[in-house]
Amino acid sequence: MKIGIVGSGLVGSTAAYAMVMRGVGREIILVDLDKERAIAEAEDIFHAVPFAHPLTVRAGEYADLAGARVVIMAAGVGQKPGETRLQLLERNTAVFRAVIPQIYKYAPDCIIVVATNPVDVMTHVTAYIAKEQFGIPSHRVLGSGTTLDTARFRALLSRHVEVDSTHVHGYVIGEHGDSEVLTWSLTTIGQIPLDEFCRMRDIPMTADIKADIDDKVRNAAYQIINGKGATYYGVGSALARIVSNILGNRRSIMTVCTPREDIEGVKNVTVTLPHLVGGDGIEGEFVLPLSEDEHAALHRSASIIRGLLDDLAISEGIA
Ligand code: ADP
Repeated sequence: MKIGIVGSGLVGSTAAYAMVMRGVGREIILVDLDKERAIAEAEDIFHAVPFAHPLTVRAGEYADLAGARVVIMAAGVGQKPGETRLQLLERNTAVFRAVIPQIYKYAPDCIIVVATNPVDVMTHVTAYIAKEQFGIPSHRVLGSGTTLDTARFRALLSRHVEVDSTHVHGYVIGEHGDSEVLTWSLTTIGQIPLDEFCRMRDIPMTADIKADIDDKVRNAAYQIINGKGATYYGVGSALARIVSNILGNRRSIMTVCTPREDIEGVKNVTVTLPHLVGGDGIEGEFVLPLSEDEHAALHRSASIIRGLLDDLAISEGIA
């Protein structure tokens, strides 16, 4: 199965590498404005194939995306000195207005997985272009959302309670960023509510400990960027898992984002909630029985993203 990646920068090429390591798909095509970069990344990743899974990795043009089941959109521009967040958003929106129609021209049946930040806004923009210009329903567009934040939350909790993270169930929802919401009230370890589990096992779980974990999840990207300039391994692995779940039609529950008509009273917005991810993209959505505080925090988070969409003048309903 063919997978396209548009934008073979750090995130796009790390996703390709993660897919080679996990054996996701059969052929990966890297497309980038910077063709030399795409060729170099494709070659470098292709040389890992003999040590991993038998995939083909090559650079290509948009026409080479023909037949792709999934296309990851990881292209974007960086912030220029003195540029406002809105100016950056406008430039990235211009990139998307140029790139998304090229993807659908050659791969009209693909599912697009958006990774470019701010991922909630860029997913909304993609779904808007998909619907407006191609009549493609929004469930065929999803963003990596808070898959990585959820992984960070589970990993930190796992370390604290000393239980394998596959048995730690807790989500991060809302914006992928500062206003994200950790769903503490619903978090369980092996089906036992977190606080009860900690009492049973004599593990401290004070408000301070929760605040510390919250801070480490929420600010992980800042810390990593301070140390090495960018983050890409985590999100690259999350993207490989999302693509694998789509190709395998797994109906996995993942904290990805897609446009929704209403989130906590905020209309026509994209932020993350748990969704069912399968062969058709988003195959279902879940409304969580949140605590009052979490409801309010999710409302605030959705309002922040809606505000950015308003600034970009993207207002029509697309969910
Ligand atoms: P990240 O860390 O998010 O991956 P990078 O700057 O490393 O960010 O990668 C972004 C990639 O997107 C770059 O390789 C850049 O050349 C590519 N890109 C930017 N604009 C376009 C465009 N219009 N079409 C295709 N690729 C683009």
